[in-house]
Amino acid sequence: MKLGTKIQLYTTVMIAIVVILSNLLIYFSYKHYSLEAEMGQLENRGSNIITEMQQAQESGISGETVLQYFSLSDGYVTMLNSQGDHLVRIATEESYLELNQPYSTSQYTDEVTYNKEHFVMVSMPVIWENGAVHSLQIYENVYFLYETYNILKWILVISSIILIVLVFILNQLITNLIISPIKRLVRRMNDTENVRRYKTIPVNKSDAAELKMLTDSYNDMMLMLKAHDDNQQAFIMNASHELKTPLTVISSYAKMLERFGKTREDLLDEGITAISEETTRMKYLTEQFLSFTKVTHSDTSADKEHIPVVQLVKSVAARLEKVFKRNISVISDDANPHVYVYPDALEQLLRIFLDNAYKYSEKDIDVTIKKDTGKITIAIQDYGIGIPNDELDDIFTRFYRVDKARTRKSGGSGLGLSIAKLLAENNDIDIEVKSVIKEGTTFTLIFKEEVRDGEAE
Ligand code: ADP
Repeated sequence: MKLGTKIQLYTTVMIAIVVILSNLLIYFSYKHYSLEAEMGQLENRGSNIITEMQQAQESGISGETVLQYFSLSDGYVTMLNSQGDHLVRIATEESYLELNQPYSTSQYTDEVTYNKEHFVMVSMPVIWENGAVHSLQIYENVYFLYETYNILKWILVISSIILIVLVFILNQLITNLIISPIKRLVRRMNDTENVRRYKTIPVNKSDAAELKMLTDSYNDMMLMLKAHDDNQQAFIMNASHELKTPLTVISSYAKMLERFGKTREDLLDEGITAISEETTRMKYLTEQFLSFTKVTHSDTSADKEHIPVVQLVKSVAARLEKVFKRNISVISDDANPHVYVYPDALEQLLRIFLDNAYKYSEKDIDVTIKKDTGKITIAIQDYGIGIPNDELDDIFTRFYRVDKARTRKSGGSGLGLSIAKLLAENNDIDIEVKSVIKEGTTFTLIFKEEVRDGEAE
């Protein structure tokens, strides 16, 4: 069901319920209080009769005579003794003589319906001439009140119907007023041409605050999508560019071998070596691309673990020492600090920094692990070419290289440090870098110290 129809239906039903309930309340309270008023008047008349009868008795006139002279416009007066016998009966209609409410020594009022006619009655105790207690009952036909009720009933029914119809129509107008700006906004949002170009839509000043918020959220989302798309495109362009050089080299050597391979054996070796080197580089590059994409969309649903730093650094260093054929010394001042990170992330981070230290230096590499108050640091120091100070901020940017020619020779992709940055962000690790040209570079990983269960004092 449409939102507009829903609002219209719900509000109309709610207002209809309120109108019906309030009209019922009006009808029944009016009926109750008007009948009560009529009974009150009847009680007054009863009291007057009783006073008149007492005065008449004092003057020696019988109470029965007083009653004979009492007249009702439309009703019935009777005097009952304790056995229920009627001592006096005066009725304006023959049929009223059938009215028969019980004898009582205490005063009461009642509403009686007889032959589809409505009466109010009062019963009052009277001390008769012989000292016996009788009951004076006065009935009054209240057809005039019921006629009023009937009129009131129809007035309320008709006014309720008119009111509900009016509310329904007004509701439709109001709902249209509320819904149409939303519809307009949705139409603007759905404009495929705009969506395709990630275009933002202008905020309509006359719109309600909620709609302005919705427009802002839509615009934010569009900007985010655009940034994401630009990012992806830039990545694809850079990646294609990176792959283009090895592919050009491979294709040139392949053409050369095609033409001269069978006749010139000296070119054969050169060509095969070049093709093999470039495919190794392409393999490395695609691995880096995959690694970058994996880290960008990393699965943070995996659990972090407490990892013993010294043990891990030593094992990574020992493995890489063999590959690099270079000495990597691990220096630590504390027995066994632990860090709380995602599995594999720390190892990948160490590999990136050690790999760079190897690529951009020719001397041994030092890794220093320290435990300071509230933090644990791992510093990877090389004594190589260094990085110019004004480029220290840029080296973490995707595909950024300080010296393109040298990096190509050393086999870099320009992605290592951007992967490291993402890994560090995902694991709550800070990275600091200090470098002096021709003296060397130190990358420091800073972890917040984790207090493990049982270690807290
Ligand atoms: P690459 O794969 O090219 O090494 P990185 O993202 O790892 O890409 O590094 C970006 C650039 O930062 C490198 O190309 C290099 O110029 C510079 N760099 C990184 N680490 C070092 C280091 N230890 N010494 C000198 N330069 C470095």
